[in-house]
Amino acid sequence: PSALFAAVEMAPRDPILGLNEAYNADTRSNKVNLGVGVFFDDDGKIPLLRAVQAAEKARLAAMPARGYQPIEGLAAYNQAVQKLLFGADSQLLAAGRVLTVEALGGTGALKVGADYLKRLLPGSKVYISDPSWENHRALFEAAGFPVETYPYYDAATRGVNFAALKAGLGELPAGAIIVLHACCHNPTGADLGVAQWRELVDICAARRLVPFLDMAYQGFADGVEADAVAPRLFADSGLSFFVSSSFSKSFSLYGERVGALSIVTAGKEEAARVLSQVKRVIRTNYSNPPTHGGAVVAAVLNDPALRQQWDEELAGMRERIRAMRSSLLAKLQERGVQQDFSFITQQRGMFSYTGLTAAQVERLKDEFGIYAVSTGRICLAALNTRNIDYVADAIATVVKG
Ligand code: PLP
Repeated sequence: PSALFAAVEMAPRDPILGLNEAYNADTRSNKVNLGVGVFFDDDGKIPLLRAVQAAEKARLAAMPARGYQPIEGLAAYNQAVQKLLFGADSQLLAAGRVLTVEALGGTGALKVGADYLKRLLPGSKVYISDPSWENHRALFEAAGFPVETYPYYDAATRGVNFAALKAGLGELPAGAIIVLHACCHNPTGADLGVAQWRELVDICAARRLVPFLDMAYQGFADGVEADAVAPRLFADSGLSFFVSSSFSKSFSLYGERVGALSIVTAGKEEAARVLSQVKRVIRTNYSNPPTHGGAVVAAVLNDPALRQQWDEELAGMRERIRAMRSSLLAKLQERGVQQDFSFITQQRGMFSYTGLTAAQVERLKDEFGIYAVSTGRICLAALNTRNIDYVADAIATVVKG
């Protein structure tokens, strides 16, 4: 037999996928998986939004041919993405300063952006928040960048250590690429306020940093418009920057891989040149994106009635998570937990960094069949009216010692 693969080592397991495997193998009927990064409805199911169903029915009825898409994807989709990020009446869009390419989810958008940046700024370094979504590091390292962190989370307040963040960014060299979570920070749920974003934009401008905003949860904090404060403040600053965005969560279309990379340039002619280079990156990677997901999202966003229906369904998802946050806090208090858990209702989006220790997380698993990430991150969208009492009982038990 050939020795080609004889020396190949087993790659380390993805910690969250490993958690899912352990959860699936658990035979306890009351087990709960708080480790996932997916929105479930109150029945514990991934919803297929009604707006999506309507667009899919119309598309099925039309039986469109499946020719290749342009390298940059569907124009109607890319324009709809730009309006969500920058606002329908954005000056930036009117001036033609933004180019957008359809991408395979937010991950695909980050990857296209990272590969393009490696060509543009080959000697640069990438800085991610401490902590960050674990794929940020892997992705930018895979694109050939050294990846370091900037200070972000404050374990004492379970919020952002803004003074440390500012000081950290203030030391970075010009041309450093900084990856920023536009809203609903993963894993901590701790976001910047508007005034803090303004300060951050000024630091990026003063130090000539290259911002890369990752917008994976638009609409999950306060709403589509309110959650776009970061890209819009950067837009007003005159800086050039990158935005990756995703509809995995906001459209509950995880498996369709619908995302986009938008790049803000200094002007229309520059945007055309940059687009031509980004297209080379895509062409030599997957050539052009698939048709279905982008067509469905574009159909929803470009039809006023479906768009309104989507807004309502998105609000429903957002409000369900908020309700689970307040309910979990109330139930912990009812159970006489002394520790202050009020941060749960201040953190935003799908996740909370609970401050549970690795040992407490282990106990949740062993004694209760409740699975969470060892860092203490839990997904609020995995809670529902049937499992929340059980989870509150379990957390109360492990924090009381
Ligand atoms: N960025 C962040 C911060 C995320 O949390 C996620 C998904 O978990 C992504 C990007 C990628 O999303 P997608 O599934 O669209 O690739």
